[in-house]
Amino acid sequence: MKRILILGSTGSIGVSTLDIIREFKDRFYLAGLTIDKNIDLLIKQIEEFHPESVAVRDRKKAAELRNIIGNKCNVLEGEEGILELSKSLDYDILLSSMVGFAGLAPTIEGIKRKKRIALANKETLVAAGELVTSLCENYGTEMLPVDSEHSAIFQCLVGEDKKNVDKLILTASGGPFLNKGKEELKSVTIADALNHPNWKMGSKITIDSATMMNKGLEVIEAYWLFKLPKERIEVVVHPQSIIHSMVAFRDGSIKAQISTPDMKLPILYALSYPERFDYKKVATNFSDIGTLSFQKPDTEKFECLKLAYDVMETGGTTPCILNAANEIAVNNFLEGKISFNKIPEFINYALDTIENHKSPDLETIYECNRITRECLNKKFN
Ligand code: MG
Repeated sequence: MKRILILGSTGSIGVSTLDIIREFKDRFYLAGLTIDKNIDLLIKQIEEFHPESVAVRDRKKAAELRNIIGNKCNVLEGEEGILELSKSLDYDILLSSMVGFAGLAPTIEGIKRKKRIALANKETLVAAGELVTSLCENYGTEMLPVDSEHSAIFQCLVGEDKKNVDKLILTASGGPFLNKGKEELKSVTIADALNHPNWKMGSKITIDSATMMNKGLEVIEAYWLFKLPKERIEVVVHPQSIIHSMVAFRDGSIKAQISTPDMKLPILYALSYPERFDYKKVATNFSDIGTLSFQKPDTEKFECLKLAYDVMETGGTTPCILNAANEIAVNNFLEGKISFNKIPEFINYALDTIENHKSPDLETIYECNRITRECLNKKFN
């Protein structure tokens, strides 16, 4: 029986993880949950799964929750509360699925305790890849990807010697604007951008998919997870999202991992690895799928993807700046304050304005994240 702590249990990945825990009650036990502020859904989760402790970042909502549930479970609050659960709750697997940079600190606590990290929060590796992966090495902590592309690559690499790998090929759906011209991107609406063709996800990652920043973040994530030279990590647009990614080997063979797009599969694998469990709820029928197609990504139209490749090359704190600037720009787009095509413009502005630091320690990364947010918030308001 594995004890699981979910960081971000009311988000899309959190909810899918609970589906898996519900399905495998004899294998997984829910030890704790953390959320931002959606206590209505959290109450339902507490009633069904009876976690020992929960943490709510929003203090007012935490107080409200205590009033409603009494002493049914221990309720912590604020960022410290989330950190405290990660630091001291008894668990085996940390499912890290908070949105954005906020996921970094509690994930590091799990790494230090040598717990398995099932990583859905890619921003952790984008902002602090060098530091986080060296912490994993030093503590001997295993980090398993939940992101579907990285889970696919991880699965293709099982049983393989890394020296035989030629390149990693990440697939990208291309998002809702794959077939729009660059000029048309100026006038797309929030609803258009939130309308992803294949995946149902939270709003931040859905906008990242529409700008293709998501794929850019994933290239950086892949670089840190699999430690292959940058020029050997490729992106190919594959609109059907049936092939989740591929590994090409030195002898010309290519392995692909394939299924109907459903995040429950990579989540289950990150929890069950190295075993595979019986699970029949996600069927893949090739006759129904029909055609799989591929094309080169257009980095002139999707500037965010190019920006991500650039910062991966530059290194230092530039990926952290890119990540923070992107979070702020996406929030502002979702609030209707800027148009869609301004997102890369603001990221560029932050990269041009804020100083890069080589081989940053954790303090420098936090400071860089803070300064970038401050700089852009000033520009927006
Ligand atoms: Mg992904």
